[in-house]
Amino acid sequence: MKRVVIIGAGYAGILTAKKLAKKIKKQGDVEITIIDKNPFHTMLTELHEVAAGRVDEDSIKISLSKVFAGRKVNVALDTVTDVDFESKLIKGEEASYEYDYLVMAAGSKPTTYGVPGVDEYTLKLWSYEDAILLKDHILNTFRRAAAETNEKERRRMLTFYVVGAGFTGVEMVGELAEYVPILCEKFEIDRKEVTMVNVDGLSRPVPNMPEKQSAKIAKRLDKMGVELCMNAFVTRITENSIVFKRNDKEEERSVGTVIWVAGIQSCTIAETAADALEKQRGGRIPVDKYLRSTKDESVYVVGDNMYYVPEGDTTSVPQMVENGEQSAGAAAHNLAAAVTGQGEMEEYKPSFHGVMVCVGGRYGTA
Ligand SMILES: Cc1cc2nc3c(=O)[nH]c(=O)nc-3n(C[C@H](O)[C@H](O)[C@H](O)COP(=O)(O)OP(=O)(O)OC[C@H]3O[C@@H](n4cnc5c(N)ncnc54)[C@H](O)[C@@H]3O)c2cc1C
Repeated sequence: MKRVVIIGAGYAGILTAKKLAKKIKKQGDVEITIIDKNPFHTMLTELHEVAAGRVDEDSIKISLSKVFAGRKVNVALDTVTDVDFESKLIKGEEASYEYDYLVMAAGSKPTTYGVPGVDEYTLKLWSYEDAILLKDHILNTFRRAAAETNEKERRRMLTFYVVGAGFTGVEMVGELAEYVPILCEKFEIDRKEVTMVNVDGLSRPVPNMPEKQSAKIAKRLDKMGVELCMNAFVTRITENSIVFKRNDKEEERSVGTVIWVAGIQSCTIAETAADALEKQRGGRIPVDKYLRSTKDESVYVVGDNMYYVPEGDTTSVPQMVENGEQSAGAAAHNLAAAVTGQGEMEEYKPSFHGVMVCVGGRYGTA
């Protein structure tokens, strides 16, 4: 019996499990287990829509037992805390799991870059719980502001900073800008009292898109009443203020809410694995062309956790869903070859179709 254990039921982990199960359907002696700390898959790409009340929170959760109903995949609800690569043993809070082949698909978490105050005073956006917390927070902020009689304090409460003008930051602030007029009407608040700022050390929003797209995003955000504060490096966040450095000058601004979407790193278990195997930028794990760890051929890495520079490229594959999906296909193929001893392994040759950014529910650029 060969055991394949997948850590993480995100985009990449689920697809690896489904594709592998299909490939080895007629093979009785292979067992596939997928472990996740949640009993559901979260559609992370829609978190900001939940946070700003546009879509229902249940619509971004997909039950894992439903996903794998009728398939030869065991689902284990557990939080993985460690992996012993020598003895091929995964340790979880609830149980331990022996494996012959391991797939690391545990995704990312926000990174704070060590900026003081980020842990304590900002809201994040990288899980189902984060999105619900943010949604409740935004609603309660307007509710409390409506009852605040001091105008200066009310304006502070209604000041929102989104730190990070990459894909996630722009999409978050765009949703917020669309939500604000609805909340102002609901709570009878003057729209002019609400401030929204998108701040980043970069010189333009979503700089991995062409300049033309950045300009379109900037124009749209401006039209929606969002101030873009570029070339500004956040140095500190306190309970009621945000401090950043711009043109060698430090500015401190009064703030009610800071949403931190400034960057990501591998989640804790993937980073722990990277420490034991080999570690690249952001705690990602280097893989060979068959998506096996460069240090351990029984470990495959897919999705956000992998570090791989395709032939002819200069940077690693992007931490996006399309890479998760395509790497899952290649890993499932190669795992099937490894567990059955039949067929050739295939090289990972991703081909991405480009990117799209949404600024609210009615505008996007690609
Ligand atoms: C707000 C937002 C918007 C985004 N928009 C886009 C977009 O428009 N397009 C795009 O391509 N990408 C987008 N992304 C990025 C995209 O979501 C990620 O690239 C993708 O989720 C990576 O897939 P993955 O399978 O590697 O990891 P994930 O989808 O993050 O899945 C990882 C899984 O591992 C589980 N896990 C983690 N640690 C443990 C542990 N210790 N034990 C057990 N289980 C564990 C988690 O619960 C999770 O289910 C967005 C991300 C966010 C947050």
